Amino acid sequence: MLIINHSQVRELLSISDCMEVVGRALADLARGQGVQPLRDGFLRPDRQGVLAWMPGSLATGQPFGVKVLSVVDDPGELGVDSHQGAVLIFDPAGGAPLALCEAGAITAIRTAAVSALATDRLARQDASILAVLGSGTQARSHVDAMLEVRPISQIRVWSRDAEKVGSFVEEQADRHGVPIEPALDAGAAIDGADIVCTTTSAREPILFAEMLEPGQHINAVGASIPSWREIHPGVLPMVSLFTDRRESLDNEAGEYISAIQEGIFERGLVVPELGEVLNGDHPGRTSETEITLFRSLGLAVEDIASATLVYRRALERGLGTKTDFGG
Ligand code: NDP
Repeated sequence: MLIINHSQVRELLSISDCMEVVGRALADLARGQGVQPLRDGFLRPDRQGVLAWMPGSLATGQPFGVKVLSVVDDPGELGVDSHQGAVLIFDPAGGAPLALCEAGAITAIRTAAVSALATDRLARQDASILAVLGSGTQARSHVDAMLEVRPISQIRVWSRDAEKVGSFVEEQADRHGVPIEPALDAGAAIDGADIVCTTTSAREPILFAEMLEPGQHINAVGASIPSWREIHPGVLPMVSLFTDRRESLDNEAGEYISAIQEGIFERGLVVPELGEVLNGDHPGRTSETEITLFRSLGLAVEDIASATLVYRRALERGLGTKTDFGG
């Protein structure tokens, strides 16, 4: 078995390569190939975070596995990532573990890669102004990812902590050389933006219906727990909604569950999955004025597809730590 750490995952997995493998995994899943149970987990006794486990399998003949993730509420002063853990993949031939890959880096890259696939299929072709809400790990990887798929010429960032926004702006300006500015509030960031990425750990809505404008595309990434709401349920009737997996949307997306319960979103409406769009079974955006929203919940098959690529690359390049593990 190969153990592949955080910096090695980052070295081996680019957003664009990750887009290719997670796109294939999502397309296969939408065709009924692969296995994707719902994630499970528990709130820690100190209520400071959760432990989640996410099992799944790629299509026949490809690896299966599980991601185990500790998500800490406010890692702030500890200076560590809020999402830490491991993705363990297994060989479908003999059932032996193949690799244990650091999950924080995989999660950061694969989530942004999935949003990039959604943006590529759903945003207007001329989309060039990007608004990012949040200034953490996902905010960073989403800037990288959006630059992969659209000619972004301006970036606005809003987050609660002005100091964090300041360092984020400085860091991203150096990294990409694209004009980037802090916004006073979420509304100011979104005003006139073509693409909006919501990447916060907000429990209460930060994106409201009245902020939206015709033609926008939104990647809603935060709040993967049913009791959290990063976007207001009132947003849903205004948008063409897409998701990674309908079963996850039904069980994990707080604003969607509320909108159905409150009767403000039509129960029984079949929300298209990104895999169906990638397969050509759904057209995606159908007009310049439509507002599209991709609700990302995060799937184990995305982690397993990414870890499989990382594992193959690590073997080719002699990276990772080999250990005898199985019996
Ligand atoms: P980080 O801890 O790195 O960043 C969290 C961000 O949220 C910070 O910018 C923080 O900024 C902001 N924030 C925290 N609390 C609040 C609040 N109450 N209201 C508004 N903003 C808040 O986390 P990640 O970037 O790794 O993850 C961000 C979100 O994405 C989380 O909800 C996470 O669960 C989700 N996620 C979703 C995935 C998916 O597949 N869909 C995968 C991985 C993560 P500030 O301090 O300035 O407020």
